[in-house]
Amino acid sequence: MSPDQDQRRGHDAFLDAVDADDAFYVECSNGHGSLPPRRACPHCGDQQLAERSLPGTGRVQAHTVVHVPTEEFAGRAPYVTAIADFGPVTLTGLVVDSRAEDVENGMTVAVDTDETPEGDTPALVFVPR
Ligand SMILES: [Zn+2]
Repeated sequence: MSPDQDQRRGHDAFLDAVDADDAFYVECSNGHGSLPPRRACPHCGDQQLAERSLPGTGRVQAHTVVHVPTEEFAGRAPYVTAIADFGPVTLTGLVVDSRAEDVENGMTVAVDTDETPEGDTPALVFVPR
């Protein structure tokens, strides 16, 4: 298996876990959080990684309204992509179930997955709580 395929499988496993309401991140022995897949901590290189449950909700740190979508999300514009702080890790995703103008920094969101309109590639999405 090529490293790219391996990376892709790891990402799918993460999305599957999110989809099953069993999202996790990995923590090194120095307490740094990062998103799977990892073989070593991106902060300190530690290879002692343990899976931890992802907090149920996070807070939007930054967001942007996208009017010219990527091909994947052609049917959705305008949509909002956001960076949300989930404590030990930061996630990037699309904000769903909310009008673009209602999304604001600091709002509480839960993480979920969603199919893109055109296909079977699941995307990471944030649902306002
Ligand atoms: Zn570390």
